[in-house]
Amino acid sequence: MARTAVSGRLIWRAATVAAAHWESPTARTLVLDVPDWPGHLPGQHVDVRLTAEDGYRAQRSYSIASAWPHPEGKVELTVQRLDDGEVSPYLTDTVEAGDQIELRGPVGGWFVWRDTQPAPVLLIGGGSGVVPLMAMVRARSMAGAKQPFRLIYSVRTPEDLLYADELRRRVRDDAGLDVHYVYTRKTPDNWPSEPKRIDVAALNTYGWPPDFAPDCFVCGPTTFVETAADILVALGHDPRRIRTERFGGTS
Ligand SMILES: Cc1cc2nc3c(=O)[nH]c(=O)nc-3n(C[C@H](O)[C@H](O)[C@H](O)COP(=O)(O)OP(=O)(O)OC[C@H]3O[C@@H](n4cnc5c(N)ncnc54)[C@H](O)[C@@H]3O)c2cc1C
Repeated sequence: MARTAVSGRLIWRAATVAAAHWESPTARTLVLDVPDWPGHLPGQHVDVRLTAEDGYRAQRSYSIASAWPHPEGKVELTVQRLDDGEVSPYLTDTVEAGDQIELRGPVGGWFVWRDTQPAPVLLIGGGSGVVPLMAMVRARSMAGAKQPFRLIYSVRTPEDLLYADELRRRVRDDAGLDVHYVYTRKTPDNWPSEPKRIDVAALNTYGWPPDFAPDCFVCGPTTFVETAADILVALGHDPRRIRTERFGGTS
C-alpha cells in the first residue's frame, strides 16, 4: 500500500462529494468518492484544488479523517470554517453532494501512525488538529490494535468539539483509549476547571510519563503545536518521538 500511496501522490484526481455532514456549527465532514484511491495511512493529508469559472485556482491541504480501508471505499475530510478564509467557507457552506473537487494525495510519510508501532501513543490536538489524530484512533480500532492511546484535545467551547459522539462511544468501547478535553474559552457545566490553554499540568496529568517512551503526535495551529511540543520536551520526552503537523495561523 505504501508504494502505491507514494506513487499516486502527484496525480490530481476528480473526487465527487458523496455526502456531507456537520460535525459542529462551523465544521463539516465531506465524504468523497475518489476513483482508484490508492489507500492511505492515518495522519496523511491531501491537497485540495478548486478552480473557478474564470480559471482562478486555490489549493489547500486537508488531513484525511477516515481510516483505510473505509467500509464504503470513501475518503473523508473534515474542514473547519475560517470566516475570513478563501477556501474553507466554500467547502463547509457551498459544496453539495454531487459536486466535484480535485484532490491529490495521500501526502506525508512522517506524521503517520502504523499499527506495527508497539509504543503507547499520545495524541495532542488543537481545534481541527484533531482530524488526523481521529484517523489514528479509527485505524487503531479497525486494526484491533492494543497499543494504549491517550488523546488530549484542546477546543474553544463544547459546541466546537468535533466527533463528540464518536469519541464518547469509542472511549466506552475501545479498550485502552482515553480522551481528555481542554476548553480554552468555555467549559461544559460543572467542569472541574476554568477555561485554560494547554499547559504543563494537563500534559503531565493526562499524557504518558516520558519513561513509557510514547510516540507523540501533535497537530493544530502553529503556536499550539509549538507550545505543546516544547512542554513535552521540558517534561523529558525524547524529541525524536514527537511528530508535529502545523495547520498554519495562530491558536
Ligand atoms: C498538512 C495540513 C493539514 C491540514 N488539515 C486540515 C484539516 O484537516 N481541517 C482543516 O479545517 N484545516 C486543515 N488545514 C488548514 C487548511 O489547509 C487551510 O489553511 C484552512 O482551511 C484555511 O484556509 P482558507 O483558505 O479558508 O483560509 P486563508 O484564506 O488561507 O486564510 C484566512 C486567514 O486565516 C488564517 N489561517 C490560515 N490557516 C489557518 C488555520 N489552520 N488556523 C487558524 N488560522 C488560519 C490566515 O493566516 C488568514 O489570516 C491543514 C493544513 C495543513 C498544512
